[in-house]
Amino acid sequence: MEGIAASRQGRRVVVIGGGIAGSLAAKLLQLDADVTLIDPKEYFEITWASLRSMVEPSFAERTVIDHTSYLKNGRVVTSPAINISETDVMTADGSVIGYDFLVIATGHNDLLPKTRQEKLSLYQADYEKIKSSGSVLIVGGGPSGVELAAEIAVDFPEKKVTLVHKGPRLLEFVGEKAADKAFDWLKSKKVEVILNQSVDLNSASDGNKTYRTSGGENIHADCHFLCVGKPLSSQWLSGTTLKDSLDGKGRVMVDEYLRIRGRTNVFAIGDITNIPEMKQGYIAESHASVAVKNIKVMMLGGKQKKMSTYKPGSEIAIVSLGRKDSVAQFPFVTVVGCLPGLIKSRDLFVGKTRKARGLNPKLVQG
Ligand SMILES: Cc1cc2nc3c(=O)[nH]c(=O)nc-3n(C[C@H](O)[C@H](O)[C@H](O)COP(=O)(O)OP(=O)(O)OC[C@H]3O[C@@H](n4cnc5c(N)ncnc54)[C@H](O)[C@@H]3O)c2cc1C
Repeated sequence: MEGIAASRQGRRVVVIGGGIAGSLAAKLLQLDADVTLIDPKEYFEITWASLRSMVEPSFAERTVIDHTSYLKNGRVVTSPAINISETDVMTADGSVIGYDFLVIATGHNDLLPKTRQEKLSLYQADYEKIKSSGSVLIVGGGPSGVELAAEIAVDFPEKKVTLVHKGPRLLEFVGEKAADKAFDWLKSKKVEVILNQSVDLNSASDGNKTYRTSGGENIHADCHFLCVGKPLSSQWLSGTTLKDSLDGKGRVMVDEYLRIRGRTNVFAIGDITNIPEMKQGYIAESHASVAVKNIKVMMLGGKQKKMSTYKPGSEIAIVSLGRKDSVAQFPFVTVVGCLPGLIKSRDLFVGKTRKARGLNPKLVQG
């Protein structure tokens, strides 16, 4: 017993945040380290599949995954982290968890619910709401708003869909060409797109059908969905020993090994980092792989020169437009239609994302 305890010394890894980056890091470390994953939810969700789940609730069976399904050799603490010291992480439920290595992957603040079953019920409720409405208002023209508008337009072509965005163009995280192509595609599916306006959501509620825009327009819709970006979840770090590691935008400053600058055993990965690159899940997964390699090197007492450095790769963004089409921005070309749709839109990378976590790509749960 003593031998086992001794051999595990220096191998306690705490991963904070069980999203795209944190779930992969925890999974990849679980056989080499004593892993604790901290997340406010009992499950990991493939974020970009959520819009499909709103029009096809059974889709969520494969995309909302209990942490315990892929982290069989680790421990899960279901509570948000609220503080960090040089040696421990504190969570809202009063747990104090010691670490030798820390991986911060808190990406974006996700709305609860806490359990997988509750989350599946929410998708069912969204679906019922869409199904029973003749007209739907979507507020927000980022990737969530555009993808939801497209999902509804394709699956329920008889419904009137209106998308209102306060900026001058859709999809501000990609170039203008991609945004224009998405705009034209939505128009071709009879989605009404209103730019440069916001909606006063207090002006109506679901069932009371008329919403007023900042431009004085009235929009008739039986229900609405608010699709605005989720804020970064880094505020909680501002009262901790890492408060000076945040830049002006609340992003965590990391070095080339993905360690927090000036720290030897604290890593940050995913959307929360200050690396100047597009914030994408496949990039967050590359961060996870690099951080895991480096933690393994350090656990074995390896020198810094054996560690891997992270270099931002080429930036690709694909926004799905329903079940067959998408608009894709590659480094030198932007394309729309069913060819780029072949890459993402049918399965939304769900099989691939499950496989990377050791799960059957097709099976639900486990
Ligand atoms: C509509 C849409 C479509 C997208 N499509 C794609 C795509 O096709 N391909 C792609 O690669 N990327 C895509 N993305 C981007 C991708 O979703 C993000 O880049 C990715 O989710 C970032 O992963 P992350 O692990 O850094 O953060 P997240 O996935 O946001 O995970 C953060 C986790 O941390 C947890 N957390 C937060 N605060 C705390 C706390 N205090 N304590 C403990 N845990 C905490 C959260 O509950 C969550 O589980 C899309 C995004 C959107 C919105």
